[in-house]
Amino acid sequence: MKKLFCSLFGHHYSVSKKVTSHIKEYSCVHCGKQVTTDASGNLSLLTPEMKEINETLENIYQKRHGQGSHQLA
Ligand SMILES: [Zn+2]
Repeated sequence: MKKLFCSLFGHHYSVSKKVTSHIKEYSCVHCGKQVTTDASGNLSLLTPEMKEINETLENIYQKRHGQGSHQLA
């Protein structure tokens, strides 16, 4: 039934993880389908390969933008 809802009304994505300021991972609140922003800014299926790419990007992004959690004011 939940998948039928998605096919009728479209997926309802909510952000599951912020990778960089431009790239986020989303999952559908109804069926759990996972997608991510790709390099060209479109949503594409979150494959294991895409997850690995995102983890790499996240590491680079966090190194460039402050030192992480212990620098919180
Ligand atoms: Zn869905």
